Amino acid sequence: MALISGEEYKKRQCKIKHNVYIHGKKVENPEDNPVTKSVLEATALMFDLALDSRYEYPMVTTSHLTGDRINRNLHVNRNNDDLMGRADMALLAGQKLGTCNYRCVGCDVINALASVTWEMDRTEGTDYHQRFSEFLKKAQANDWACSGALTDAKGDRSLKVGQGDPDMYLHMVEKKSDGIVVKGAKFHQSGAIAADWTMVMPGQGLREGNEDYALAFAVPNSEEGLIYITQYNPMSVEREYTKDIYELGNPIYGQRETCIIVFDDVFIPWENVFMCGEVKYAGLAVTRFAKTHRMNCGGACKVGFADVIIGAATLAAEYQGTDRAPHIMTMITDMIRDSKQAHACAIAAAVKGFEEPPGSGVWMPDDLFGNVAKLTIAPGFWEIMSFAGDIAGGFVTTMPSFEDLRNPATKDYLEKYLKVKVPAEKRMRITKVLQNWAAGLHGAGTWHGAGSVQTQMISLMRVADIDEKKKIAMEVAGIEEEE
Ligand SMILES: Cc1cc2nc3c(=O)[nH]c(=O)nc-3n(C[C@H](O)[C@H](O)[C@H](O)COP(=O)(O)OP(=O)(O)OC[C@H]3O[C@@H](n4cnc5c(N)ncnc54)[C@H](O)[C@@H]3O)c2cc1C
Repeated sequence: MALISGEEYKKRQCKIKHNVYIHGKKVENPEDNPVTKSVLEATALMFDLALDSRYEYPMVTTSHLTGDRINRNLHVNRNNDDLMGRADMALLAGQKLGTCNYRCVGCDVINALASVTWEMDRTEGTDYHQRFSEFLKKAQANDWACSGALTDAKGDRSLKVGQGDPDMYLHMVEKKSDGIVVKGAKFHQSGAIAADWTMVMPGQGLREGNEDYALAFAVPNSEEGLIYITQYNPMSVEREYTKDIYELGNPIYGQRETCIIVFDDVFIPWENVFMCGEVKYAGLAVTRFAKTHRMNCGGACKVGFADVIIGAATLAAEYQGTDRAPHIMTMITDMIRDSKQAHACAIAAAVKGFEEPPGSGVWMPDDLFGNVAKLTIAPGFWEIMSFAGDIAGGFVTTMPSFEDLRNPATKDYLEKYLKVKVPAEKRMRITKVLQNWAAGLHGAGTWHGAGSVQTQMISLMRVADIDEKKKIAMEVAGIEEEE
């Protein structure tokens, strides 16, 4: 049971009473709408890859709790090899999906909570780690797809948590003998509409007085009071209107789909609550989440995306007969450099990771390299897409529809004038792949995913040990240490 197929996962999803809205309409089942279906299909692939012997590594590993073979998306990293496996899974997912592994954020929340609940129990005498481990055993046994929820609505950013409307940050509105009731909204929730459970934790550090906001818990999809409002944009419209999805830039798995999850007085039983009021651990949980997530988001999954773009740009150049031109070759090599620089940082983050806190048995990637991975890929990904746009030519934004290639009134013209070294249709297909990236949502998505760039700069300055560098410079300059 610990490893189920994509089909079994989809059947399970169909039994859930979904509370999902898209473009003003309710979607009772993700399969009913072409946009939400792409989330279901992308998530299903992460189950199927684990059953494919070619991808046993990195997709499958052994549970430290039960000894069972489990999907790596539910694994707590126990050593540096596990961290490498986690990064390799993100890379593979990026290459295979060309969009998010929607189990990724949940996986990194699981690791943050494994570490922080252990620490809370040791220092505060709580029993969160025991509860969390029991939950995780069930998640692993059932192969649950877990999304991860950190980002609050926040509202006016100049106000602190608790100032203004309290609901701008998810918080507890009632503490009962059997659990808690929570209210608020989490934004930008990757793939949450088709998850089995969502792992929730704070999105920022908290201070004394914010106890009601210091919450971590697990909640099943479409629990009473949960409302999912999905993103909607020109690419959603395109998917809804296109007769043949194989004419889209990423036919089956689509773009990165997120939603707002509204928590309208949702009850969470104590057995699924893993933090409740311990403000000083909120920031620790966020920092530890960011360590794994920036390694994966910055230096692994985007590298998989880049492989798709580099491949498509090279094909476009070959089709158009420009592939041997020196400036095109320079752009292709620059795209490889951009992506591999970030990849090297993810590998370094995994190799230099360590147990945190000591004794917990949970391994976290190196913070400095994780942050540098994200800081490298944020501008690097824009650059990769700009090169792809250059190589594909203006056609990447001006190409007509496949319908015009079928329409007898325009077909012959397009077949004649769009022909390059390959027929018009083939050229249009590869251009559509590039359009999905270069004229799509991925630049801004990559910039903000795993935290906007400023947060990585702050983290970097915290861990970069500038004082040590000043000492090194003073020694070289022969300046005596000041009193
Ligand atoms: C494609 C995608 C997928 C995502 N998936 C998930 C997910 O699955 N789960 C999840 O929890 N989150 C997810 N996120 C959320 C992501 O982590 C946030 O977008 C990111 O942390 C930025 O937060 P924000 O969008 O609220 O922007 P803001 O925080 O509002 O940032 C916008 C700008 O304002 C600046 N700013 C913000 N606050 C202040 C302040 N107080 N003072 C000065 N400047 C400020 C920022 O530095 C930035 O320049 C996803 C985001 C994207 C784009």
